[in-house]
Amino acid sequence: MGMRPEDAEWDVVIAGASFAGLSAAAHLTGRVLVLGQEPVGAVQRSACGAPAEMFEALGAQDAVLQVHRNFWLHTATDDIYLPLARPFCTFDYARLCQTLLERSGAVFHHCRVLGVARDGSILTSAGPVRARAMIDATGWHATLASSLRRGFVRPDHASFGLESVVDCRGEDMHFYFAPDILPNGVAWIFPAGDHCRLGVGSYRGQTRGMGEALRCFVGRHGQELGPRHGGLFPYRLRRGTVGTLFLCGDAAGQCLPLTGEGIRTSLYFGSLCARHVQEFVDGRCTLAEARRAYRGAAARHRGVYRSLFRLQWLINHLPNRFTSRLVRAAVERGAFHRMMDLYLDTFMLSERHQSGDGDRVCAAQ
Ligand SMILES: Cc1cc2nc3c(=O)[nH]c(=O)nc-3n(C[C@H](O)[C@H](O)[C@H](O)COP(=O)(O)OP(=O)(O)OC[C@H]3O[C@@H](n4cnc5c(N)ncnc54)[C@H](O)[C@@H]3O)c2cc1C
Repeated sequence: MGMRPEDAEWDVVIAGASFAGLSAAAHLTGRVLVLGQEPVGAVQRSACGAPAEMFEALGAQDAVLQVHRNFWLHTATDDIYLPLARPFCTFDYARLCQTLLERSGAVFHHCRVLGVARDGSILTSAGPVRARAMIDATGWHATLASSLRRGFVRPDHASFGLESVVDCRGEDMHFYFAPDILPNGVAWIFPAGDHCRLGVGSYRGQTRGMGEALRCFVGRHGQELGPRHGGLFPYRLRRGTVGTLFLCGDAAGQCLPLTGEGIRTSLYFGSLCARHVQEFVDGRCTLAEARRAYRGAAARHRGVYRSLFRLQWLINHLPNRFTSRLVRAAVERGAFHRMMDLYLDTFMLSERHQSGDGDRVCAAQ
């Protein structure tokens, strides 16, 4: 790297080097520093399932491990086949992260961020770092925002997921809303080339008993538990800015309720955030204007989050057989495909989005 991060004045410092932080970095120009507590791509925390078309928009097809056109939804009493008009895929986390970092031109520094100091610098395990704009992309903990605002992170507004890499192969993706596996939760099987990712998730953020639930779920499929990973993922949208900070990804609560899809939204909001920050860096608006514009743009999606949260609540409270009936009715009446189109279009990175085409972001306010 040849430069100590604490010795330079950066245009933008991004805390967190995963989906949201690296997407922001890939859409910024200038002197951009990314700080991460582990080497880029070294620690995978999710099942890494996402819509396949997103990888075309990103030009990151080489990260795709397996494409899925067949999706099964299982309840305690029913197995419902859902053909996917727009396929999903499982992908290689490290490769996607490396691709985004290489594309970015940003400098990466391996250190832990600790918080924002009174003088506005970022405190890190390598010393203080100063920047004209700061992005918190540290995931669920929102480390920087939490240091400015106590109580910003609400653990009761998060689900908890635990997953195992299992040494087997599979064809289709499977999702379970089945109380016999986990009450108030989901389970999944995502085949990923030479292995499968099997997981359980609690909408109540429950951690106790999750290891046992996962062991039983894996055992039910005649498999042995492999290496495990997991963590919390939020289901309530938070503010897009706190104090002088921009937030994106799980730090801003941008993971979707019900489906727990947080990768696509992190990439989407990372890029959206970058466009607003760039306006400031290039001198087209003040920092306050850029913050206000991004906060407004992110909050405009609140309706989608509310609708998905209501569905999540319903699935948690409906008798399981009604969930089956609801999904079957949606499939038979063609509503499922229309809903999927709507769902996928909302946060999809497109060529237009990637090129930054469209409205001038600050002027949009
Ligand atoms: C078990 C499980 C399975 C999941 N499966 C899927 C799935 O298949 N598809 C999907 O779309 N979503 C899935 N999710 C949700 C998804 O993983 C998250 O929404 C997504 O990772 C959020 O991305 P992010 O970049 O905001 O945060 P993260 O991916 O959490 O990344 C935050 C980064 O910041 C770094 N960091 C944190 N604190 C500090 C610090 N103090 N200093 C320096 N660096 C720091 C971390 O090391 C990490 O690199 C899953 C979640 C879980 C728990």
